[in-house]
Amino acid sequence: MQEFLTKIARAYERFEQESNTWLKSYTASGGQVFCKAGCFHCCNLPIQVSLAESLYTVSRLEPEQQKAMQTRAYKVIENAKTSESWDMYFERHRQEIGYCPLLENGKCSAYDARPARCRDTFSAFDSRFCAVGTLENLSKKEHLEYQRQVRKHPATDGQTHYIQPLEDIGASIWETASQAMRQAWGLEVWGDFWVLTALAADETFMEAIWAGQGKKAISRAKALGLWHLEIVQFS
Ligand code: SF4
Repeated sequence: MQEFLTKIARAYERFEQESNTWLKSYTASGGQVFCKAGCFHCCNLPIQVSLAESLYTVSRLEPEQQKAMQTRAYKVIENAKTSESWDMYFERHRQEIGYCPLLENGKCSAYDARPARCRDTFSAFDSRFCAVGTLENLSKKEHLEYQRQVRKHPATDGQTHYIQPLEDIGASIWETASQAMRQAWGLEVWGDFWVLTALAADETFMEAIWAGQGKKAISRAKALGLWHLEIVQFS
């Protein structure tokens, strides 16, 4: 178990080094990053993680933090079950389920345990574009201008205002997680951050995972009420 978690910790360390190097070069050549301490607009976005990362998160959370993650996990499942579309799921996730319970007084209370997506999401535009409601409330003309600016920005993927090269560096964490899961379990589990973190804290679920028994793990997730095909994926 410790060896498994160390692989994830090392992947996070490598990411920090490589992303810092990239950021230094990017800002030295005039590039701007609009993320700063105290900004948490992105902490109400849905987050995709590997079970390997959730296991790492669980290993660093206090019991009350874990309880809050579990409470939110059930809300995520309920939202998935009752949403008629991805757009509805996404909007309700941000507006009704709201901010991650690990956000305390405007800061991530589990900064060292946060998953890849929380580490590699950086804004190339003013942070108001990350806030819920900003893009949704742009007029058609404003939205066309936003798209034009995104397309011409050298650090985005041309679709959104997030900095793509940092997400590319973050992809190496997912590669490490993928390999670690395959080697240790013979299977991979990916899905929602809060649901997987609640499952990673469940002994019976994790016993099945460590034994490579995917069907048994799925049965346990169903018994816990933490199962939805679009929220947890086994492969
Ligand atoms: S883990 Fe931390 S950074 Fe990630 S969404 Fe939660 S509060 Fe925000």
